[in-house]
Amino acid sequence: ASLDRIADVDGAVHAFLHVDAEGALAQAAASDARRAAGAPASALDGVPIAVKDVLATEGLPTTCGSRILEGWVPPYDATVVARLRAAGLPILGKTNMDEFAMGSSTEHSAYGPTHNPWDLDRIPGGSGGGSAAAVASFEAPLALGTDTGGSIRQPGAVTGTVGVKPTYGGVSRYGLVAMANSLDQVGPVTRTVLDSALLHEVIGGHDPLDSTSIDQPLPDLVAAARLGASGDMSGVRIGVIRELGGEGYQAGVQQRFDEAVRLLVAAGAEVVEVSCPSFVHALAAYYLIMPSEASSNLARFDAMRYGLRVIPEGVENPSAEEVMRATRDAGFGDEVKRRIILGTYALSSGYYDAYYGQAQKVRTLISRDFEAAFAQADVLVSPTAPTTAFRIGEKLDDPVAMYLNDIATIPANLAGVPGLSLPAGLAPEDGLPVGFQVLAPALADERLYRVGAALE
Ligand code: GLN
Repeated sequence: ASLDRIADVDGAVHAFLHVDAEGALAQAAASDARRAAGAPASALDGVPIAVKDVLATEGLPTTCGSRILEGWVPPYDATVVARLRAAGLPILGKTNMDEFAMGSSTEHSAYGPTHNPWDLDRIPGGSGGGSAAAVASFEAPLALGTDTGGSIRQPGAVTGTVGVKPTYGGVSRYGLVAMANSLDQVGPVTRTVLDSALLHEVIGGHDPLDSTSIDQPLPDLVAAARLGASGDMSGVRIGVIRELGGEGYQAGVQQRFDEAVRLLVAAGAEVVEVSCPSFVHALAAYYLIMPSEASSNLARFDAMRYGLRVIPEGVENPSAEEVMRATRDAGFGDEVKRRIILGTYALSSGYYDAYYGQAQKVRTLISRDFEAAFAQADVLVSPTAPTTAFRIGEKLDDPVAMYLNDIATIPANLAGVPGLSLPAGLAPEDGLPVGFQVLAPALADERLYRVGAALE
């Protein structure tokens, strides 16, 4: 059914960069056999899934939405992909994304934009717009995304799907093509909170192949989602973050957010307002730390090791550096080049302390704000994104306007805490989905599922 749906709608949505019908059907047949024998590999055995094209998949192309990796087929699986296979989930294919996960609209993909299934003239969010659109358009019941500054949660918000960024270190990054190692996390993209909990349990947990992986058992996420679904929120303290709302937030977004908070109160939760004064600097700190790490990570695309190699024209016996320059010039898009320049500048001697060093200090202040806020509340809440889906092309020439879309999601990445976005209804002024964000302390991911499920 998923493959039929992809054949019907993906021409218009363009959620997928690569569909592996044959592989998915073979995996599904194996799953049918396990089920017939009464021995499914997991609760999700046989449920098909789409995978963001930034995760290595053995035998399937992995482009990261970039020309520089066109045609690259990894010889190994990312740990999360290996875990999907072991749990019996057929992999439908790879989903579209902003190049190297840099963007909030999927317009920076070298292979053309993904369209929001709610309105094909609008963006599906980014960078994981393909995964969110695949789930929102019923092409796939589940997908994997990655979230460095909001790339799971913001697409979830604007497509009316559920997206979760786990605690940093809670899900393995082995085989995830790094954008910014200290911020990146892999997580679920689904239609319900319970589905995310089930998928999170499949992909999460310690991995010796990732040096930042936490060596601790995962909390019982599915049980927390079931508890939340009972609708009883008594004893749960909800903190509304003052700095993430009001001015700059679309009226209908704010209205749906306020309604969701009232529903939690009606379910017995206690609501307090908390202040996180350093959050106003989070975006600026992120846009120094992330490009710094990304500029260093992207140095590996040197025309020697992976994918594209461009031999400059009219140069006799070109040097390695000339080949590298021609390849990176042709292979990287404008947004990637912009961030490499920003990052190398921020890291250069003479500017390091003024930019990168300062940004790291702000990062510490943001973690402290979270600590203080979590002393007053079990979870924190905010709108996931300040607006509903904007029109394709609307912000393409204005990088700062694009960056502002992540204002509410970035603090969680800087502090390593988990976050979930779930649909909170449609904005009255444009009829488009609004996202409600729940944040929890590090290693307390189960709280996201309890509160999220209560709102479903
Ligand atoms: N939109 C943000 C950025 O452009 C976040 C990207 C992400 O989470 N991968 O950096």
